[in-house]
Amino acid sequence: MRRFVCPLAFCLVIPALVAAPPKGDAPAQIHGLDLSGMDRSVAPGDDFFAHANGAWLKRTEIPGDLGAFGVGYEVIERTDKRTAVLIKTAATSKPPAGSDLRKIGDYFTSFMDEKTIAAKGMKPLKPILNTIEAIQSRSDLARYLGTTLQADVDVLNATNYYTPNLFGLWVAQDLDEPTRYAPFLLQGGLGMPDRSYYLDASEGMVKIRTQYLAHVTGMLRLAGLAEADKRAAAVVDLEARMAMVHASREESGDVLKGNNHWTRADFLAKAPGLDWGTFFAAAGLQRPELFVVWQPAAFMGLSKLTTEVSLDTWKDYLTFHAIQRRSRVLPKAVVDQSFSFYGKVLSGTTQPRDRWKTGVAMTNQALGEVVGKAYVARYFPPSEKIRAQKMVANIIDAFRTRIERLNWMSPETKAKAIAKLATLKVGVGYPDRWQDYRGLKIVAGDAFGNAERAERFEYQRNVRKLGQPIDRGEWVMTPQTVNAVNLPVMNALNFPAAILQPPYFDPKRPAAMDYGSTGATIGHEISHSFDDSGSLFDASGKLNNWWTPEDLKHFQASADQLVRQFDAYRPFPDLPLNGKQTLGENIADVAGLAAAYDAYRLSLAGKPAPVVQGFSGDQQFFISYAQSWREKTREPLLRQQILTDGHAPAEYRTFSVRNLDAWYEAFQVKPGQTLYLAPGDRVKVW
Ligand SMILES: [Zn+2]
Repeated sequence: MRRFVCPLAFCLVIPALVAAPPKGDAPAQIHGLDLSGMDRSVAPGDDFFAHANGAWLKRTEIPGDLGAFGVGYEVIERTDKRTAVLIKTAATSKPPAGSDLRKIGDYFTSFMDEKTIAAKGMKPLKPILNTIEAIQSRSDLARYLGTTLQADVDVLNATNYYTPNLFGLWVAQDLDEPTRYAPFLLQGGLGMPDRSYYLDASEGMVKIRTQYLAHVTGMLRLAGLAEADKRAAAVVDLEARMAMVHASREESGDVLKGNNHWTRADFLAKAPGLDWGTFFAAAGLQRPELFVVWQPAAFMGLSKLTTEVSLDTWKDYLTFHAIQRRSRVLPKAVVDQSFSFYGKVLSGTTQPRDRWKTGVAMTNQALGEVVGKAYVARYFPPSEKIRAQKMVANIIDAFRTRIERLNWMSPETKAKAIAKLATLKVGVGYPDRWQDYRGLKIVAGDAFGNAERAERFEYQRNVRKLGQPIDRGEWVMTPQTVNAVNLPVMNALNFPAAILQPPYFDPKRPAAMDYGSTGATIGHEISHSFDDSGSLFDASGKLNNWWTPEDLKHFQASADQLVRQFDAYRPFPDLPLNGKQTLGENIADVAGLAAAYDAYRLSLAGKPAPVVQGFSGDQQFFISYAQSWREKTREPLLRQQILTDGHAPAEYRTFSVRNLDAWYEAFQVKPGQTLYLAPGDRVKVW
């Protein structure tokens, strides 16, 4: 993925993280580079990010409701506003009952109807709290836990390893047998983003833990529990014990460690404790015989905790998570309590998001492709689809040429790489076939029930895939998402319509600038098919390393070089970047930028590039790249990103330019400058 910090499932827990830009009018569209945002007093070779964005960084304040702000947020703002109009139009035009458009209208309107939500109070949550209260045995516990399983994680596509539920499900192509779907199970259960929030001894983390305890206490009080503070302490303690058995973010990113096939019987033998039969039955997973258990040690540890910790503590834990999970469709006191921790403490925001933005995000999640269909019809002209498809084709050509020219790669590996490139399925704008929402019931005035039903519908849609043939046309992002994604096992790419808009992609400016921003994104996504995890999957999507050992050694040497390059960046004195955790993304950035640059040069067909706004074609390409990463982030969110995200922060992604010879020429970068790398230290993966 290219841009955003937050996987969707996590955003639902932590609303402030959903990228949502500021109030007021978006600045007038510039068709070209933003000259007024540059700081030419900073030499490109010393800090290219500041050179391209310094004046903007100085004059920009992050809006109170956001943890970060930048160009991506502006594009999201515009897209959200447009989407909101489409949804509201669906609500006011009264489409026939049961129609898709009626559903998005009713979903959004019900969410916005805070009066009705307030009038209902905690009543909608009551049946769930009653079920938790009625838990009397370990098998009751297993049954309830089974009902909390959601299809809310994703190992390889959107790379979301976080679920607040004890486990998370991802249904995707089996890595050993790519002709069938497999149920992947992931660790979960934490209310904070990562194990380090529970285990790290630093002063900052200790403080966050104290604030988390206060938050859990507040939520239990709102749920009507007596002695909330004592019970909250036990809940946080249970989560800390979960954190102790959790795999780290870096380990979770390792496909070879994750691809563990367990039979149903293996769960009982290898991870005793939880009543697995009851759990799977309650989760609607009676049929599959084989599962993929991504973090086996965590499954052993979490399963044990279901017997080692008292039922009362488990019930309090489940109560907290039940109310937290639905906080956005409960009365304002709950929304505010949730914001006090997830917004203020974890992201550093000072004010909650406008409710309509959350409403758009939730409608997008519940009925994403209905909204997407309307969005595409209105805002994504066929001419832009064709233009994007051409750019994709050019970059694939450039990539192929780069592979053919590699002098270190053996002919066998080259042939396989090129075969993989040839079967790459590239989706531009929107899927060929839209999802069917006929089975999803949306009731006007029932925000809580709608959220429940939509989540269940999505879960069942995923479970139903098991046993069906693989659908390579399925999209994992909606067209109105400002992002792009590689599906490594499917060997497919999705470029949603919403990322193909200015200033990323703009028919009214020189091609060099589009190649520097959207071209680099396209190159990035293509490169994922060949990076540290992509190199593990062959053209069919099978986990089958297709490299010769010598080729792999060379590749890994370049990769190690890049790990060291990123390990050396220190956004905070006590917190460096993790070069290993971000390796796949960094390879994709470097390789993607190089391929986009080649494709741009080819697009000139030997003619000189026009000088525009005083810059040569190559300068336009690189400045556009750096401006496409323009972003300013609050410290708490930045720290969270460094600890949990597979992507480096935007500023450091910009520094990928250091690895391209052309950048040195374009800006006269010389030895002694901060970003200067000797030619031998420039990483050339492809
Ligand atoms: Zn990526």
